[in-house]
Amino acid sequence: MSTEAVAVSAVSEPQQHTPSAPAQAKTVEKVNLLGMSRPQMEKFFEDMGEKKFRAGQVMKWIHQFFVTDFAEMTNISGKLREKLEKICEIKAPEVVHKNYSKDGTRKWVFRVGDGEGSLVETVLIPAEHRSGLRRTLCISSQVGCALDCSFCSTGKQGFQRDLSQAEIIGQLWMANYSYMEEVPVLERERSVTNVVMMGMGEPLLNYDAVLNSMRTMLDDFAYGMSKRRVTLSTSGVVPKIDQMVKDIDVALAISLHAPNDELRNELVPINKKYPLEQLIAACQRYIAKDGNESSRKHVTIEYVMLDGVNDQPEHAQQMIKLLKNLPSKINLIPFNPFPHAPYGRSSRNRIISFQKTLSDAGFVCTIRQTRGDDIDAACGQLVGQVADRTRRAEQWKKKVAAQNEILRSQG
Ligand code: SF4
Repeated sequence: MSTEAVAVSAVSEPQQHTPSAPAQAKTVEKVNLLGMSRPQMEKFFEDMGEKKFRAGQVMKWIHQFFVTDFAEMTNISGKLREKLEKICEIKAPEVVHKNYSKDGTRKWVFRVGDGEGSLVETVLIPAEHRSGLRRTLCISSQVGCALDCSFCSTGKQGFQRDLSQAEIIGQLWMANYSYMEEVPVLERERSVTNVVMMGMGEPLLNYDAVLNSMRTMLDDFAYGMSKRRVTLSTSGVVPKIDQMVKDIDVALAISLHAPNDELRNELVPINKKYPLEQLIAACQRYIAKDGNESSRKHVTIEYVMLDGVNDQPEHAQQMIKLLKNLPSKINLIPFNPFPHAPYGRSSRNRIISFQKTLSDAGFVCTIRQTRGDDIDAACGQLVGQVADRTRRAEQWKKKVAAQNEILRSQG
C-alpha cells in the first residue's frame, strides 16, 4: 500500500490512529501531512475532533516556514502538538543526489520507493526577468512514463507508478527549503517563483494527485503562487484538458513537437488516440472558458528541435497553419541527446531560421536557453545515471559476496 493510500484511509478512519489503540498504532504508518491540500487537511482535523482552522495554521508552518517538527508550531496548543506528533509526520521524499550548477540551476534526484528504478528528478532553473529573478521548478508527476515519446529519456525507462501528493508537493517543498536550511524559522521566505508540471511522467494521467498539488501551490495558506506562474504541460490527454477547465485555472502548455499527425504519431504516440485536430480544439476550449483571465490568454507550445526530423521549412509552415486560430506562444527546445538517443540536435542556424519563419508570421516564438550543462542534460537522464551507479554498486556488492563465499568454501 502506498503512503498515499495510508493517508487517505487515515482521513476517513482517524480512529485507527488514536493513541488509545496501541496495538494498531504500532503497525500503522503515520499520516504524512505534507501532501494534503487544505480541504483534505481540514477534514482530517475535523475527523480528529479539532477545529478546521487548525489546518490553515499547520499548512503555514509546513509550506511557508518549512517546519517538520510539530514542537516548533508555537501557535498550536501543546496538547494538540503532542497528538499530532503521535499520529502524523511531515516527510519530504528522500534526496539521493543533488547537484547545484554554477549558473544557479539546481537538480535533485528523489527516492520514492524501494525498487531499483524508484527515482524521480526535479530541476530548478533561475532566470533574470523584467519583474526580477525567477526561479522556475520543473516537477515530476510519475515514476517513469507509459507514453513512450520517441525522443524522451523518461519514456525509455517505462512506467512504474504515479507519485503521491506528498511526493509531488515534496519536490516544491524541498526546492524552497534548499535556500533556507540555515535561515531562522520565522525569517524564512519561499524562493521558488514559478512551477511547471513538466518533469518525468504525464501529469494528466495522475490527475487527482496533480490537481490537489496544484491547488496547494495556489493556496494562500501554502505557497500562494499566482495562477499564471503554475503551468501544467501535457502531451495531449484531451478529456483531462476538458476536465481541467472545470477544476482549476492554471497556465497550459502542450508538448507538440510535430506539426502533422503522421510525424506526431511517431514522436508522441498518444497522438494516435487524440490527434491534432482534437488537441487544438481542446486547447481552444481551455482558453475560451475564461478568455479574460491572464492565465488563459494563450497556450504555450513546446517544440523540441530534432535534426532533420521536425525542423524543416515545411514543418514551420505547417505549424503556422495548425496554430493560426489558437492564441499561442511557441518555445523551441534544442534537443539534449541522451545515450542511445535516436535523434540529434538541430543546428543553431536551423533553429534560428525556424524561429524567424514563425516570428515573421506573427507568433511569439522563443528558443529555450540550455541551462545546467555542467550538471547533466535532458529530463530523466540524471535518474538514469544515478540508477546506473546504484545498479553497478549492487552488482559489485554481489560479486564481492560471491567471491567471499568461494573463499570460505575453499577453507
Ligand atoms: S515526453 Fe513526457 S509524456 Fe512523453 S514519454 Fe517523456 S515524460 Fe512521458
